[in-house]
Amino acid sequence: MTRHCDRPGCPDPAVATLGYEYAQSTVWLVDLTGESHPATYDLCLFHADSLTVPIGWDLRDRRQAIVAHERAQAAAAPPA
Ligand SMILES: [Zn+2]
Repeated sequence: MTRHCDRPGCPDPAVATLGYEYAQSTVWLVDLTGESHPATYDLCLFHADSLTVPIGWDLRDRRQAIVAHERAQAAAAPPA
């Protein structure tokens, strides 16, 4: 079963999971987790990449290289 981005109105498939650690003022991103969890949010690539965090918070992007690899391939694709 495909999970979709949790951003309202976004129909794209989720590729990353976002979570918070309030004690450390940290927001983290990982590759989409196996199960959705009530304390996390699923995001598509666009919303994961455009994520911003409040001032004073850290964003830890822990997604694996495959995502960056796919993005680099897309960017390097020759024009059709
Ligand atoms: Zn989205």
